Amino acid sequence: MQRSEKTCPACGGTHLKEIYHLSAIPVQSCILLDTREEALAFPRAELKLEFCHDCGFVFNSLFDLDLVDYASTTEESQHFSDTFSGFAKGLVEEIANTYDLSGKTTLEIGCGKGEFLKELVSRTGTTGLGVDPGFIPERLPDADAAKLSFQKEYFTPKTIGIHPDFVVCRHTLEHVPDVGSFMADISEVIDGTDVGIFFETPDVNRVLSEGAFWDIYYEHCSYFTLGSHARLFRKSGMDVTNLYLAYDSQYIIQYAEPAQGNPPLDAEDDLSKLRDLAETFPEQIAATRQYWTDFVKQRHADGKTVAIWGGGSKGVSFLTTNNVGEEVAHVVDINPHKQGKYLPGTGHRVIGPEGLKTAGVDTVIVMNPIYLTEIKNTLQQIDVEAEVVAV
Ligand SMILES: [Zn+2]
Repeated sequence: MQRSEKTCPACGGTHLKEIYHLSAIPVQSCILLDTREEALAFPRAELKLEFCHDCGFVFNSLFDLDLVDYASTTEESQHFSDTFSGFAKGLVEEIANTYDLSGKTTLEIGCGKGEFLKELVSRTGTTGLGVDPGFIPERLPDADAAKLSFQKEYFTPKTIGIHPDFVVCRHTLEHVPDVGSFMADISEVIDGTDVGIFFETPDVNRVLSEGAFWDIYYEHCSYFTLGSHARLFRKSGMDVTNLYLAYDSQYIIQYAEPAQGNPPLDAEDDLSKLRDLAETFPEQIAATRQYWTDFVKQRHADGKTVAIWGGGSKGVSFLTTNNVGEEVAHVVDINPHKQGKYLPGTGHRVIGPEGLKTAGVDTVIVMNPIYLTEIKNTLQQIDVEAEVVAV
């Protein structure tokens, strides 16, 4: 463990240890380009993950927010998948059963295209304000303007004209470099103690224990476990009231409220386990990278056509981290807004599932195991026979 001049953005601690380094990865992996040339020339930057021994937070200490343009053609919506939209509906139901939001106001920070907020408004009777630089009004044509409004910008307390009763923040905290300031900004818009807070953030536990390199990419500058997520909130003057893993243990679900002094939950107690994981991580991720590089190169050498399923960040990371772009013939995604566009880094053109029928495929590598059944069914429906494996 080295003592550093730098401090942890989550806890201010100084016991930081470098656990991963990549010299040049695309600075955006959620973006899609209109031409192959643009995609190949897409800017790259260095990534250095550091582990904080004091709170368990993992972050890219070289992250530069100016390199990432979230207002551009970011295509993060996963709502085209039945698996994901079913999951989101379940969360809306859970929130509705936890808080009576009828007649209340909800602020969603990082609302993306607004699907979740729209669902929450219609289920609970809350009014909703969504904030996101990547919001596209045309993608939510039938939104009820009286109940639902949006600000196309980064979240800052200065422009939020309400004191919300409920704050939602899904898949956003991992994009925030200065997480301590971000929490202070949330505290600033909250007035009083009768406020509920709901966060959903990817869990880094599997990444650390299995060396899941495809889940590490430039836009994700901040990585949490149940414990480090909760420690950030407690340090920011909040009680964590419910904390668990969902979506095949990929996502942290956390409810919080302004602090009344509730004791920590059992799930928060993971710091010593995390320190052990950080110790073994460099070796583990090297092994996992080697496994998938060999897997792809061997099939390619055998004359097989390899496709990856998932034209999002995981796909871009899978292709660029190990330089296997040449050996992977196709990238498939069910999101029609991605099809026909090009992936940053390797320049693959995204095709729809039907595209595999004409293009031909022997092996499909699925970027998220939770979609395995959904994808196998799709392939069967379109009559494509292939080896299907998940990372
Ligand atoms: Zn820390």
